[in-house]
Amino acid sequence: MFESLSDKFSGVIGDLGKRGTLTEADVAEAMREVRLAMLEADVALPVVKDFVNKVKERSVGAEVLESISPGQAVAKIVNDALIDALGGAGAVPLNLNAAPPVPILMVGLQGSGKTTTSGKIALRLATRERKKVLLASLDTQRPAAQLQLQQLAERAKVASLPIVAGQTPVEIASRAMDTARREGYDVVILDTAGRLSIDEALMDEVRQIRDVTHPAETLLVVDAMTGQDAVNTAKLFNEAVGVSGVVMTRMDGDARGGAALSMRAITGAPIKLTGSGEKLDALEEFHPERVAGRILG
Ligand code: GDP
Repeated sequence: MFESLSDKFSGVIGDLGKRGTLTEADVAEAMREVRLAMLEADVALPVVKDFVNKVKERSVGAEVLESISPGQAVAKIVNDALIDALGGAGAVPLNLNAAPPVPILMVGLQGSGKTTTSGKIALRLATRERKKVLLASLDTQRPAAQLQLQQLAERAKVASLPIVAGQTPVEIASRAMDTARREGYDVVILDTAGRLSIDEALMDEVRQIRDVTHPAETLLVVDAMTGQDAVNTAKLFNEAVGVSGVVMTRMDGDARGGAALSMRAITGAPIKLTGSGEKLDALEEFHPERVAGRILG
């Protein structure tokens, strides 16, 4: 992830950082290369334009160009602009501030990693925050989905809602919340059905589940490898059902990074967590400043 982008950024910005003097033309030339590198990495065009303009605006001016180490000053401006694009400094934590049982609604397209991520979040909350977690699959579309989540729950050593054949997703959601209330669970993770593409039936189903459970978090799971499609998916989900956070999976792959850099500006939703493998502990908080550091090398 970010490899090619990082090669180019660290080349161009690293060179600037070493130089003792800089002109406005030097900055413009560097930004031309940065612009190309970002477009190649599949960053959305408005995000690229905004980034380049911001860096140019902040860089040209006596304080920066005539400072003792202008190259380093520009490198710092680029670093800050990267952090902005990635969503601002600091990880955005999961919001569990509601009366228990706190519902977390997991949404996304089929194959994005939604079910695996539900298991990962369950494991994390159970082990790191000592929460009593109930996992429930509301996926009545794929026959194996409910079993898959049950097996993940066993691996994570958390409870899963017993499977009852013939219930609708909304009925399962209500049963999950009732069970959690009765049995004193802190968190209920509701894994909804995915589809191959976004359709009105999917959004309707999610809206109905949302309206009976009132989730504290609606987490959209997207695959980093799908680039701008991940961003478009997030935009559509956010408009249709409201998304409080994004989990970006397959950060362990060779995705070019455009989705991570475009997500916040295009959708408004913060990336809260990232997945970096198939194992249940391969889940990390998303720290924009660390990612910016990785990109700048
Ligand atoms: P769902 O259809 O959205 O529920 O997707 P699944 O959770 O079933 O995941 C689809 C496949 O992606 C499975 O083989 C997962 O093991 C794999 N997967 C999920 N998250 C990640 C990740 O962060 N990295 C990698 N490499 N594979 C992942």
